Amino acid sequence: MTIQQNLLRIRQEIYDYSSGKNVHLLAVSKFKPVTDIEAAYEAGQKAFGENYVQEGVEKIQYFRDKGIKLEWHFIGPLQSNKSRLVAENFDWCQTIDRLRIAQRLSEQRPLNKTPLNVLIQINISDEASKSGIKPQDMLSLAQDIVQLPNLRLRGLMAIPAATENVDIQWTTFKAMEKLFLELKAHFPQQNIDTLSMGMSGDMKAAIECGSTMVRIGTAIFGAR
Ligand SMILES: *Cc1c(COP(=O)(O)O)cnc(C)c1O
Repeated sequence: MTIQQNLLRIRQEIYDYSSGKNVHLLAVSKFKPVTDIEAAYEAGQKAFGENYVQEGVEKIQYFRDKGIKLEWHFIGPLQSNKSRLVAENFDWCQTIDRLRIAQRLSEQRPLNKTPLNVLIQINISDEASKSGIKPQDMLSLAQDIVQLPNLRLRGLMAIPAATENVDIQWTTFKAMEKLFLELKAHFPQQNIDTLSMGMSGDMKAAIECGSTMVRIGTAIFGAR
């Protein structure tokens, strides 16, 4: 299967699972060469996710130099000392898990750019090894983030523990949907419109539970 064929199939699956709702497709291109990203772009894909700051910035620079406008999402764990590169180069940061990193991103966002779109990452499976905040800390972090001038809080993101058990997938994604609705209800003035959940292995359940953005790597680009 080519990247183009994979994209066509994934888009069809998203359409089938979403019963008409608009679900965005983020192509996760970590470890994949720019030629793969170009193939996806030529098949109509515009939004890409990267996990590592340096790798992501090199790719962003490559397409900027070619005059190709893509939308870049940072989806990896973010260390403070790398925040400036994210603020200066990416369009979204999906992995906000503490106020300090949000403050840095807001301070470092260039004023000639639109505000950086951000998502709060929730550690929904409560795994010690995973980043993200506890669900009960969501509202207070959100309250602080919406004060920051150069960020736009758009919603939530989660990376649940990997499982093929669809019942567990559903329970977890439904818990995320509930938090997302709670966030929207608390901040009606903000444009809270993004629930980023679902990867190659659990996309169907995520969409059925209200995901508005799936992050797909393997099913588009092949194994890493
Ligand atoms: C790698 C990665 C993905 C894509 O995972 P696949 O299983 O390859 O689709 C999605 N989200 C995050 C945060 C990732 O790190």
